[in-house]
Amino acid sequence: MTLPDDMVSNERVNLLGLTRGDLEAFVEGMGEKPFRARQLMKWLYKRAVGDFDQMTDLAKSFRERLKLMAEVRVPEVTLRQHSTDGTRKWLLRVDRGVNSTPQAIEMVYIPEPGRGTLCISSQVGCAMDCSFCSTAQQGFNSNLTAAEIVGQVWLANQELHGDKPPSADTAERLITNIVFMGMGEPLANYRQVISATEILMDDLGFDISRRRVTVSTSGLVPQMMKLAEETNCALAVSLHAPTDELRDQLVPINRKHKIAELLDACWYYLERQNARSITFEYVMLDGVNDQIEHARQLVSLLRGKPAKVNLIPFNPFPDTRYQRSPAAVISRFRDYLNTNGVIATTRRTRGDDIDAACGQLVGRVHNRTTVRLGSKLVSVVAEV
Ligand code: SAH
Repeated sequence: MTLPDDMVSNERVNLLGLTRGDLEAFVEGMGEKPFRARQLMKWLYKRAVGDFDQMTDLAKSFRERLKLMAEVRVPEVTLRQHSTDGTRKWLLRVDRGVNSTPQAIEMVYIPEPGRGTLCISSQVGCAMDCSFCSTAQQGFNSNLTAAEIVGQVWLANQELHGDKPPSADTAERLITNIVFMGMGEPLANYRQVISATEILMDDLGFDISRRRVTVSTSGLVPQMMKLAEETNCALAVSLHAPTDELRDQLVPINRKHKIAELLDACWYYLERQNARSITFEYVMLDGVNDQIEHARQLVSLLRGKPAKVNLIPFNPFPDTRYQRSPAAVISRFRDYLNTNGVIATTRRTRGDDIDAACGQLVGRVHNRTTVRLGSKLVSVVAEV
């Protein structure tokens, strides 16, 4: 089989980036029967074992060849933070070849009663340039591979469960939900994100139900249409404004794909997926998009539609021109939506003491390091 270049690192294939079909083709290419792929997946995802020597039901000769041709490699942890509210955050580094500086991404775990959500990154940096987002300030660096995306979940599982491999029994799992709400625009890294969601939802993979894997997009309409055909995960859309005039300012991709076109893509997605509803994220920016007039406009867009609005209190970061809407304004906005036929909830702010919001940790460390060491970001992060 031929594997795409970006799946091959140092000539070894990182198995965490291979879907069941890819893995079957890979083992067949090694002269093995396809069921070996299923055995491998059980070791990787059910027993959390990445060391080929421990995979005792595989022939020794196969294991030796695997060691030469394949690897199980996860991003490296550079910094761990624990919030007093139980939120955990990791700064991770991904390698970008011999002559490139390693790059930093973030991952956040948010425990709640009855569920645990892992927020993962899909790109290093982001090119969407949303005006209220700290990742945007860093610009776009690179796409993550499917292996680096799945590797985040594999790593978090180990970090959270310690030596004890996570049980296949869902009740004991600490990670029950995955959201692509870390750094990056997942639909701008379409193919790698699709492979990763397939591995996350595969019953031989992480076996997370399709309603619990959420891709969040700023509104890349053509990719949303493709997504509707190719996968069946949940979709969240970063709306943030009820009019094109305002959304053009906050989410620049809106200049290309207007709200009406975006919403059409949303309803198409639901129809194709036979799913219940789409979550619309709406960041609450003081005096910008948080007035009752905005709520009224939002109601006229969404009333009677299979939509839920998730209000996100803005997380401030250095040098931002925005402020978080006061709690009373957020409640008033939420109540207006709810009493006028649009289901709305407010996202609780978590991990405030550890800069848990997307892009903030990298941003903060980066600010510090650019002064001290130019682009040598990660080596300095290790000292922090
Ligand atoms: N690119 C994807 C995923 C990115 S982040 C997207 O746009 O959906 C996940 C969510 O956090 C998005 O809704 C994003 O708009 C929001 N967000 C970004 N910066 C924020 C900030 N400073 N405060 C609150 N929410 C923010």
